Amino acid sequence: MPLTPFHVVAVWPLYVRWPRRWDLLALSMGAIMSDLEVVTVYPIVRTWEAGRGIMHSILGVFTVNLLLAVLAARYFVPWLAGRLDHRFPGKGWRMFAGHDIVTDRKRWGITVTSAIMGGLSHLGLDVFMHYDTPLLWPWRSVPIAAVPWAIDPVWSTSIEVVVGVLFFFMVWKWVGK
Ligand SMILES: [Zn+2]
Repeated sequence: MPLTPFHVVAVWPLYVRWPRRWDLLALSMGAIMSDLEVVTVYPIVRTWEAGRGIMHSILGVFTVNLLLAVLAARYFVPWLAGRLDHRFPGKGWRMFAGHDIVTDRKRWGITVTSAIMGGLSHLGLDVFMHYDTPLLWPWRSVPIAAVPWAIDPVWSTSIEVVVGVLFFFMVWKWVGK
């Protein structure tokens, strides 16, 4: 939490504002990648907190997450968007805020920076909404949260609602357009 896809609200405006300086797919993949460890571990341990380890750490953002986010952004998503566009033409699969995401390739430096920025933004949001975000994994002694009331239900539900509204607004405004 926030719900994984909602994490993109922190980075999409960067791309819309400075489309040449940021890589949309790398920002987006970076922003959601951390939760891959949560969704893969959840079926086994049945708790959302326990799944949070290296991919929710600064170390992970510069290593595992970076690698996976760049691969997804550079190869998987463009391939998928191309396939979908081919299969169901005219639905805007490749479009985001006036840019064709398949042909909008950036230099490696921009892609890598964008993936890292996305990853850091994920941790930045998480520290406000979890009792503990293992930023310094595997070195850790005390739980890390930005505010002591991070898991207060009123607080976390409010953030979830605000971020959710922003998410659907941005999807409506930019995705497929
Ligand atoms: Zn997370």
